[in-house]
Amino acid sequence: MKTMFDTSADCARNLDAQDTLAQLRDQFYFPQHEGRDVLYFCGNSLGLQPKSVEPALLRELEHWRTHGVEGHFRGEMPWMHYHKYLQSAAAHVVGALPEEVVIMNTLTANLHLLMVSFYRPDARRFKIIMEAGAFPSDQYAMESQVRYHGYAPEEAIVEIAPRPGEETLRTEDVLETIRQHGPQTALVMMCGVQYYTGQWMDVEAITRAGHEAGALVGFDLAHAAGNIPMRLHDWQADFAVWCSYKYLNSGPGGPGGVFVHQRHADNKDLPRFAGWWGHDEERRFLMEKGFVPMRGAAGWQLSNAQIFSFAAHKASLDIFESAGMGALRHKSEQLTAYLEFLIDDLTEKGLPLHIITPRDPAQRGCQLSVTAGPQGRAIFDFLSTHGVVCDWREPDVIRLAPTPMYNSFGDVFALYHLLLDFLRRNQ
Ligand SMILES: *Cc1c(COP(=O)(O)O)cnc(C)c1O
Repeated sequence: MKTMFDTSADCARNLDAQDTLAQLRDQFYFPQHEGRDVLYFCGNSLGLQPKSVEPALLRELEHWRTHGVEGHFRGEMPWMHYHKYLQSAAAHVVGALPEEVVIMNTLTANLHLLMVSFYRPDARRFKIIMEAGAFPSDQYAMESQVRYHGYAPEEAIVEIAPRPGEETLRTEDVLETIRQHGPQTALVMMCGVQYYTGQWMDVEAITRAGHEAGALVGFDLAHAAGNIPMRLHDWQADFAVWCSYKYLNSGPGGPGGVFVHQRHADNKDLPRFAGWWGHDEERRFLMEKGFVPMRGAAGWQLSNAQIFSFAAHKASLDIFESAGMGALRHKSEQLTAYLEFLIDDLTEKGLPLHIITPRDPAQRGCQLSVTAGPQGRAIFDFLSTHGVVCDWREPDVIRLAPTPMYNSFGDVFALYHLLLDFLRRNQ
């Protein structure tokens, strides 16, 4: 793929001209810097606002204004069934059956709710295997879960770290750890794409190894959903959670997504923390005692839908539906390979950039995590003052996420140009 790239502006122009998704960019608002669109590489943290969100929210406000409580039952999209309007589009994003997916709450809350069902430690099996350096919220969730069940994190949590001198995890090491601790492991809980390094984990192999060891396997897909194509159903994961405000562009604090594999759909014996919205919908308003869960992931719902944030999420998911994860991934591979090519060129020219994200496209999404030694912070600050939005993660990583949804090859080239400028000024 790299042979199709060179360092000229023409190259970026040609790639944009051939980009069949180029027009998607016009469906988003870009923050402004000195009268121009910023170079936005932060979709891994908060996706940009689709222009369709505002009218979607206004529709719901209008619906409320006009109908009051009757809005639950009237109109094209009665609030009563709102979670269903997002189900199939969300299922396409993660490669699931519609009934395996529900949109509800927020990521960390959902992680706890699903661990009530899928982390059931006993004297023999009580361990959780996870990645060292997991996103802090996941670490806190795991620690507090094992403590809640009466175990000490030091005995119950097994962390898998990269080998000394390496930056990312080797699948073989993950599988070996699962084999080693298998008989004592209740849950393997991994990320889909690692937030710090951008590494895409082998979800299918990890799931298979976890199951062979007799454990359940769950995934945090915060950095995977909307970034990489997945087939959660076929890969047999037991459960997964994700958020909608990163690559899924649904706004700050947007609603979380949940996947529960079909084989658990009718297992009414799974312990869970229940609420009325997870109760059999035929009987929900009979206000009876005795919880009977709905089939599938919907049976884990607690409360009625947060209409405004769901409406924003739906507006965004509709764009994913029309673009398709396959086409997005195709562009994403090109866009990230192009960024990689230009970063390597800068390194050759003397800017000490080092990509810690895997070089193999099959092991990464769109994000490249870059270190730059002692100059790192200065480079990041230079980019920020010149209208680039990316992020700095302690201790020394700059994360750059060109998203196929709204970034162009021209954006990546403009970033390259700024970094060349930094190099010239600091040589
Ligand atoms: C972004 C992110 C979260 C955020 O959790 P919220 O509950 O949505 O605040 C959690 N875990 C991972 C891995 C993340 O990347």
